[in-house]
Amino acid sequence: MKSIRVISGIVALLLMSLSSQVSAVAGDGLVRDVRLWTAPDHSRLVFDLNQKIEYKVFPLHNPERIVIDMERTQLKANLNSLQLPDPVVQSIRHGKPTSGTLRVVMDVKERVQPRTFLLKPMQGKPYRLVVDLSRPEQAKQAAMRSGESRAKKGLVIAIDAGHGGEDPGAIGPRKLYEKTVTLAVAKELAKIVDATPGMNAVLIRNGDYFVPLKKRVYLARKAKADMMISIHADAVRQRNVEGSSVYTLSERGATQDRAARALAAKENAADEVGGVEFDTVDDPMVTQILGDMFRRDSLNSSQILAESIIGKLKHAGPVKYSAPKRARFFVLGAMEIPSVLVELDYISNPAREKKLKSRDHQKKLASALFNASVSFFQKMGRLKSTPDQAMLPADSATALQYAVSEQGL
Ligand SMILES: [Zn+2]
Repeated sequence: MKSIRVISGIVALLLMSLSSQVSAVAGDGLVRDVRLWTAPDHSRLVFDLNQKIEYKVFPLHNPERIVIDMERTQLKANLNSLQLPDPVVQSIRHGKPTSGTLRVVMDVKERVQPRTFLLKPMQGKPYRLVVDLSRPEQAKQAAMRSGESRAKKGLVIAIDAGHGGEDPGAIGPRKLYEKTVTLAVAKELAKIVDATPGMNAVLIRNGDYFVPLKKRVYLARKAKADMMISIHADAVRQRNVEGSSVYTLSERGATQDRAARALAAKENAADEVGGVEFDTVDDPMVTQILGDMFRRDSLNSSQILAESIIGKLKHAGPVKYSAPKRARFFVLGAMEIPSVLVELDYISNPAREKKLKSRDHQKKLASALFNASVSFFQKMGRLKSTPDQAMLPADSATALQYAVSEQGL
């Protein structure tokens, strides 16, 4: 094998010297695109590659830099297109330390630990080299903000905007990304929740970056959420399909519903598209065995929450299934927290895509999710009911009338 590589290397060199005008020699690695995603606790640089390459990543100090050496690779992307500086990366440049080697140097603002991995082609994405720069200090602070140190006031709703960063989710005919819609609706919902006395929102994702599924579950647990809503938008080939659907966790995954099973498989693939190298999240709860009764109780609560959401979504737009469905969604893994996954609509339907893009409709959807949450908490005896429950306004300013009961806090 080694000799073959050496020979092919020599051939490549010969070819290169023979035709210096040729921009790329067959067999060479090419960086075709580059993207930078900024998350609260790390920045992620992604290189699109035409093939698998050999690479090395290492830090240099005084000043702090991260060096990425890609063997037999050429740059065909524009590094100047990156939005810089970001909280970690000050600037980025490239050079050729030796013939054939592409060196990318990032000037970083503080000492950071790089973590790199190569992603195989999948769902239309090519080979990708991922370089994660996590910030120990900021990471700690971010964790503290969303975690235990945050005094728990009232009921906490974990709002999970599906996909993000490298993972666009479903893409509409007019190129609207699922990740954009989910974040917009999540933020609208958080606004209403946070303006409601006795309620707090925790946004699992707060920008355009990817959060691994396991980490989403972990963040909801860390925030001691009383409920979790994972927001998505579906897509199918037939463009006329429309309507929302709501899902809860199927414990064993042995769901009879093929469509639900296919959907879960699609949503569960997010980690591979978004880019997860290995388990970077340590969640002791995952290994904890939950008692049967406890689990059943929580699954029942999720069912009630799901029904409540369908009831309210009916007023915001078409509903695909009038009853919740079940499948094994990884993101619903916190079995002690009532959790649902909502597919807001079909982004593959041009008319619905247009709706999903509209700010007014996003607000309408967020209000429906909020009203459903309130009615769920009331049913569970955790919020006091008022006589005009159905009149709960979309704008939460008047939701002040809803006093949080002492019970369950
Ligand atoms: Zn999705």
